[in-house]
Amino acid sequence: MARMGRLMSQLEFRWLSWLRVQTTPAAHQEHADKTDSKLTAWCAETCKSLNMQELSRRVRVSWNARMQTTAGRAWWPDRAIELNPKLKPLPPEELWRTLKHELAHLIAYERAGRRHTEPHGPEWQAACAELGIPGEHPYHTLPFKRRRMKRNYTYVCPNCLTSLHRVKPIRRMVACYACCRKFNNGAYHDRFRLIAKKP
Ligand SMILES: [Zn+2]
Ligand SMILES: [Zn+2]
Repeated sequence: MARMGRLMSQLEFRWLSWLRVQTTPAAHQEHADKTDSKLTAWCAETCKSLNMQELSRRVRVSWNARMQTTAGRAWWPDRAIELNPKLKPLPPEELWRTLKHELAHLIAYERAGRRHTEPHGPEWQAACAELGIPGEHPYHTLPFKRRRMKRNYTYVCPNCLTSLHRVKPIRRMVACYACCRKFNNGAYHDRFRLIAKKP
């Protein structure tokens, strides 16, 4: 029993120290446990470099597991950004693009002050360009569906007409494996070179 007691207190200690690390700067915030201190710090730093001191002090980035298909959201005048945790398993550029998209909203609102601005108007577009995502689209949905459609590439063998589907485009020359094996002893032949089919 004594050993058990010691083990428990050790676990408790670890748990507490882990909590302490997770909740560092924004412990007073309502959803402190969901606040991402790293992304918040990045936004604060970025705003500072754009000479936006108040936004730099107040911007908060958090994860909201209740979000369905929305990738990110920006709250004004809270100066808060919410991100969908479904972004986490995606390639990191999706998270950064979403974060910059939302931060651009806050920057545009901050600069506009009391003036009215369109959510994805010229002020937001300018902020996007400053954050390195010029020509950003106004969508807030997760990229799954759009991506899946965009990345569909079909290739056809001119000999047997078998088609091949690829997520990414084929960069080097590729021939139909079945035909090369059947008619050319498995070696590459131009005659069986796959032809890209227009979507
Ligand atoms: Zn937007
Ligand atoms: Zn073939």
